[in-house]
Amino acid sequence: MVVGAGPAGSAAAAYLARAGLDVLLLEKSGFPREKVCGDGLTPRAVAQLIRLGVDISAPGWMRNRGMRWICEGKQVELDWPRLGVLPDFGLTRSRHDFDDILASHARAAGARLRTGVKVSAPLTDRAGRITGVTASRGPDQEPVRYRAPLVVAADGASARTALAMGLERDPSRPVAAAARRYYRSQARTDDPYLELWADLRCPGTGLDLPGYGWVFPLGDGRVNVGIGALPQRRRRPVDLRAALSHWLTRLPEEWGIREENADSPLRSAPLPMGLNRRPQYRRGLLLVGDSAGMVSPWSGEGIAQAMEAAEVAAETIALAMARPQGPRREHALHQYPTEIHRRWGRYFRLGNLAGDLVFARYGFRPVLHPRVMASPPLLRALARLLTHVAPDEPAQDGVDTVLHALLRLVPSSRR
Ligand SMILES: Cc1cc2nc3c(=O)[nH]c(=O)nc-3n(C[C@H](O)[C@H](O)[C@H](O)COP(=O)(O)OP(=O)(O)OC[C@H]3O[C@@H](n4cnc5c(N)ncnc54)[C@H](O)[C@@H]3O)c2cc1C
Repeated sequence: MVVGAGPAGSAAAAYLARAGLDVLLLEKSGFPREKVCGDGLTPRAVAQLIRLGVDISAPGWMRNRGMRWICEGKQVELDWPRLGVLPDFGLTRSRHDFDDILASHARAAGARLRTGVKVSAPLTDRAGRITGVTASRGPDQEPVRYRAPLVVAADGASARTALAMGLERDPSRPVAAAARRYYRSQARTDDPYLELWADLRCPGTGLDLPGYGWVFPLGDGRVNVGIGALPQRRRRPVDLRAALSHWLTRLPEEWGIREENADSPLRSAPLPMGLNRRPQYRRGLLLVGDSAGMVSPWSGEGIAQAMEAAEVAAETIALAMARPQGPRREHALHQYPTEIHRRWGRYFRLGNLAGDLVFARYGFRPVLHPRVMASPPLLRALARLLTHVAPDEPAQDGVDTVLHALLRLVPSSRR
């Protein structure tokens, strides 16, 4: 059973169904529906879509070549690396469409999708192991129970299922906040880059915003414009609405990113980061995506991580289900957190440190120092750090070799 049909849940359900398992995918809303997001997909996320067999050549997918960072009047375009196994392009697609496409994909793969089902609590056996969930179904909120030998919690930042099973958030790991709004902008909707602004300030205090602003082109006449910020010790949370309004006045008039062209209300949501809920497997429950705080502390990206973890979880479950119920199956299931930490532990740990020491204090301005912006190798290294360089992927050039060596120096984090 998979709780939640966002990118994590739908990808997990699709991979599980493809492995021949009977999968029930429970989702509280109906599709299509909104989800507050920047709608930006890096090559890591594109790779997941390709692995799942989603048709990204169909109309509606907007390709991008890389990121454009803007800082102190200077700008630099960082193309996605043309190395290794990942595609050399990114995508954008509104979550209104994206989540619908992924959920339909999971259903087409054989998962039984049930929308309008709000999961309320886990059902457990006497040993405290999850055996299913209670939920309310449909407009009448009819109480229902579903049972399954294993449950994947993919219910997003609320992490309701994990919490009910006693899996608390690690308070030392950050939860950022971000807000976005759609605007009609013919001038920017076909931009081939994801644009990011690193030199924003908090209105009122004038201090560096501990985050960045973005303008992501959607190719349909609209752009997704938003701002994200990390929490700062001993300071009040950033007023995202005020910071966004302040920043928008700096955007060129001819882009049309102004109140009269707004195409949605401003909406905000939390970003649980840095693998902030552990362990990712306990007593029959696997945590995937935001429910496990898998958003990258380097960038705020969470879709690629959610889908990649979903693939790892599904593979682990398929292998475990081939074993008899009992200690051998349990042993196989414990490989899920082990694999997540093998892949990402050091990268996330270094990101959490960079978040504490740099991003939460000064935002992204220091990493876009004029010397960095003038140095192609440093920019390449930055682009890979921000978009999740993986230490176990073969090093393709000198920049990769240095980053891999750096990551190997980072002590592996606790599981
Ligand atoms: C403003 C903002 C901008 C962002 N921009 C980007 C970006 O550009 N690129 C990127 O990669 N990431 C971005 N992120 C992060 C990204 O949105 C998340 O990391 C991603 O959505 C996580 O996917 P998920 O499937 O784990 O959770 P979600 O997408 O939150 O999906 C959870 C699902 O579970 C369902 N659910 C919840 N509770 C229940 C319940 N009780 N019963 C049944 N169903 C339930 C929800 O309805 C939802 O469908 C952004 C986040 C924010 C807030």
